[in-house]
Amino acid sequence: MARKKILVTGGAGFIGSHLCERLLNEGNEVLCLDNYFTGSKENVVHLLNNPYFELIRHDVVHPFHADVDEIYNLACPASPVHYQYNAIKTVKTSVMGAINMLGLAKRLKVKILQASTSEVYGDPHVHPQPESYWGNVNPVGIRSCYDEGKRCAETLFMDYHRQNGVRIKIVRIFNTYGPRMNPEDGRVVSNFIVQALKGEDITIYGDGKQTRSFQYVDDMVEAMVKMMATDDSFTGPVNTGNPVEFTMLELASLVLELTGSKSKPVFKPLPGDDPKQRKPDIALAKEKLDWEPKTGLREGLVKTIGYFDKIMK
Ligand code: NAD
Ligand code: UDP
Repeated sequence: MARKKILVTGGAGFIGSHLCERLLNEGNEVLCLDNYFTGSKENVVHLLNNPYFELIRHDVVHPFHADVDEIYNLACPASPVHYQYNAIKTVKTSVMGAINMLGLAKRLKVKILQASTSEVYGDPHVHPQPESYWGNVNPVGIRSCYDEGKRCAETLFMDYHRQNGVRIKIVRIFNTYGPRMNPEDGRVVSNFIVQALKGEDITIYGDGKQTRSFQYVDDMVEAMVKMMATDDSFTGPVNTGNPVEFTMLELASLVLELTGSKSKPVFKPLPGDDPKQRKPDIALAKEKLDWEPKTGLREGLVKTIGYFDKIMK
């Protein structure tokens, strides 16, 4: 089979770096494009001696031209701390990034996959969330730059598909964790692990009874690759996530158990618009992608704790 040339925007980020690795392992050529806002060269340094890997510093708000066979569009800060740091830039990244990458896909007539998010469901009134649910999103809150930016990107993907026949794929990613998460990005899994390993207090926002469903990164990457391989008639959106739901209190006690840490939970104010519950309905992914997550939270946390333990020494 001919080697495919694949563009991964946000490729030096947490999920992007795992995706680049997977695509290279499958014998493809990878162009990894990133502006290093939340990602780093460190995440892909082990790929740099592969002659089929190319690292490009570029910001997706500006047009980009290259001859490629497929595009995965992941460029966007993903943690609340980082996407709220420059909210206007977050909207520009989602919206202008989508327009620039869709323009490239249109010109080249290639498939393009959008890394969308469960945040499009906002603070959901339907539980678990199927793709047919339109969501409950505040358009003017502190999470809106991310949620509405991603919703607008989905709209752009569908309109480029309907109007211009662009070959699109939309994946709605639920909370994903694993090695190479940025220890500074404030997401709950990395925060709890780093705090536990340092012996610091475990910061529980609100009463800790809010829920999330945590998906290990390898399962996520598998779903993305399978989605890209579907025929053009299936555009998604399709949910990818692990449907086992945990409260933040349960997550904290699991992290404490697995690290053997003596850290104590402390309660902090709940950030604005923080969703109370989240759990994917993955029936569509099972049917269309023949996919379901394989890694349970305990197993995934052990691997992730091992990573943080190593980088913090
Ligand atoms: P991440 O922050 O590690 O990765 C994002 C990458 O995009 C980083 O390398 C960053 O430097 C890069 N980037 C940001 N703005 C850019 C710009 N303007 N131009 C070029 N590059 C830019 O986060 P992640 O968790 O790996 O998320 C990857 C994608 O998956 C994002 O689009 C995110 O919205 C989506 N997603 C992630 C999760 C999750 O739980 N991790 C959940 C839902 C959706
Ligand atoms: N959270 C927490 N302590 C932290 C970081 C986050 O209790 O140190 C909570 C946060 O309020 C939210 C959940 O954990 O309810 C998941 O937060 P994260 O930022 O990881 O993802 P998102 O809210 O985007 O799903």
